[in-house]
Amino acid sequence: MANNYILVVFDSCRYDSFLRARPKVMRKLGKVQRRFSYASWTSPSHYNLLIGLMPHLSPKHVYASEYYKKEFLHFNERLGQQNIEFRSLVPRLYLPLFLRETLGYRTHAMVSLPVLNPKTILNEGFDTYKLMDKHNDMRAMVRQLKFPADRPSFYLLNVGETHYPYALPDEPEEEWPRISGVHGVFKHLDEHVVGGKLKKSKEKFFDDQKMETLRRRQIRAVSHLDRVVEELFDIVPKNTYITITSDHGELFGEEGYFGHGPIQHPKVWEVPFVEGKIR
Ligand SMILES: [Zn+2]
Repeated sequence: MANNYILVVFDSCRYDSFLRARPKVMRKLGKVQRRFSYASWTSPSHYNLLIGLMPHLSPKHVYASEYYKKEFLHFNERLGQQNIEFRSLVPRLYLPLFLRETLGYRTHAMVSLPVLNPKTILNEGFDTYKLMDKHNDMRAMVRQLKFPADRPSFYLLNVGETHYPYALPDEPEEEWPRISGVHGVFKHLDEHVVGGKLKKSKEKFFDDQKMETLRRRQIRAVSHLDRVVEELFDIVPKNTYITITSDHGELFGEEGYFGHGPIQHPKVWEVPFVEGKIR
């Protein structure tokens, strides 16, 4: 029987935040690798993941096509197959379609970030695709997972606790760190535009102390998620392969940067990557 496959994406989680949280549970999957995202923003990065481009190892003295072929073959292990051929992925090059139509998977996505909502083009080849009610509650996703025995299941879980403002689900919203324009850009962008121009913000950029607070909040979010992943491990069937990674890193003040997206800095590419079966 093919494996169930769960791709867990901790949105914005830096590699070093992941390490500093010392997650005992997630490390049971295998060695935590330092990898690099192909994109620095949520949507393009999830598109990459869904065409099967896992974060890369930045190998030297090798042709991109050779590295890609080698990496692609890891899907045999992930899916419990032996002869997955690259040509079965083309021409559409989309993992959910390939899993559903070629390998007979049930395909589901649960996403936390509104930029990945079900109306976006990413929702192709999924049986179900859901934007969660809260942006920061992986536990709510875990509780909805089902693995019927007749066919294998694929889940994409986009997890938001590690995204700004790095809030845990039980933390009251009034206690979240705040800055105008960062909260709810998606919902409120137009309110900041007057006469086709952006209103000038009166906010100052975060100072060093604020950056450190935010960094610690992301590390705390990873520690919290390690406990949620333990609950995930408890409910998945034996033949389930899990990949945990991030869609991009995050800057906490290095060289004057905060966040991710329009940033050219090594820390925006660096992401954790760990995968395997639990038992
Ligand atoms: Zn993201």
